[in-house]
Amino acid sequence: MSYRLPLHQRLANALNYGEFRIYYQPIISFATHQMVAVEALLRWPHPDATFTPPDQFIPQAESSGFIIQLGDWVLRTATEQVARWHATFGYPVRLAVNLSNRQFLHFNLVANIESALRHSKLDPRHLELEITEGAAMHSPDEAIGIMRQLRNLGIRLSLDDFGTGYSSLSYLKRLPIDKLKIDKSFVCDIPADANDLAIVTAIIAMGHALGLEVLAEGVETEAQAQFLAECSCDYAQGFLYGRPVPAEDLERLLQERPAPA
Ligand code: C2E
Ligand code: MG
Ligand code: MG
Repeated sequence: MSYRLPLHQRLANALNYGEFRIYYQPIISFATHQMVAVEALLRWPHPDATFTPPDQFIPQAESSGFIIQLGDWVLRTATEQVARWHATFGYPVRLAVNLSNRQFLHFNLVANIESALRHSKLDPRHLELEITEGAAMHSPDEAIGIMRQLRNLGIRLSLDDFGTGYSSLSYLKRLPIDKLKIDKSFVCDIPADANDLAIVTAIIAMGHALGLEVLAEGVETEAQAQFLAECSCDYAQGFLYGRPVPAEDLERLLQERPAPA
């Protein structure tokens, strides 16, 4: 693949030539210590075995509009994969998929998601869509309408990278969401940083008071996990439990673990 081509062209070629991969990262319940979900994370491998980080190419895909096609591919591939795992292992692991702002506000979003669910036969209760504060707050009334339609399908919704965007609390209380994902920038310095301890404790308490579940991202150490468990955080995701891995490696984890009761 020529690196002289503009990035948007290289992205389109990469999708046509099947170069993208989806990695899956475990999400753990503090209550059961079991893997209850996986987050699908896009990877664009290079021939030299490195990756272009999604943080670099997703903003470009977003600004060129290509994210609509790419996001649809992620949704279809991941729902099919997870539905296969359900059939093979009888283990109802939930799937979390990231939606970019543009994807979230695209007129065809609900129809695309319904189509992906129909084709994959994934139970909508096992799909969770992660949206960012930016998408939810940009045009709150429109966002709330879309979210209601998605939830009416039985899909769960979470607010990703919580705390890093324009967290308007007056809108937050109106959003029909199920979960807050505390951004890893607040988690990485606990328990050493007193300010982060206070922020994380407050987000968990606020989330629960609003009837939401709370997940902490970027959990890397036992000390972080212990603090979060003491604050009654519901879920954790991070290198302590497992890095994002290709489907074959995640499959091995599913084989090794007993199905939750
Ligand atoms: P995100 O949705 O917040 O995903 C979590 C990111 O944190 C992932 O980075 C993951 O690899 C990383 N992470 C997980 N645990 C740890 C940890 O313990 N320590 C540290 N330092 N990092 C951890 P990744 O895969 O590079 O993705 C970055 C962002 O790119 C994602 O953040 C998401 O916003 C976006 N992204 C990835 N895949 C997709 C996709 O399919 N669609 C869209 N729209 N965005 C995506
Ligand atoms: Mg995410
Ligand atoms: Mg995040």
